[in-house]
Amino acid sequence: MATCNTCKGKGSVQCPQCKGKGTTSTAIKTYTCSHCSGSGVVMCGVCKGKGKI
Ligand SMILES: [Zn+2]
Ligand SMILES: [Zn+2]
Repeated sequence: MATCNTCKGKGSVQCPQCKGKGTTSTAIKTYTCSHCSGSGVVMCGVCKGKGKI
């Protein structure tokens, strides 16, 4: 087992869709990011959220 380099052991990574903001916005409206449900982070796909591989 080694610390996951992708998430640095945290088990989560910045949401690629909203860049960690938790929201996506157009010129007229701001939406909660559907990819991360507004949290700004998503589970690390490399270690499956465990932080170690
Ligand atoms: Zn997001
Ligand atoms: Zn990871």
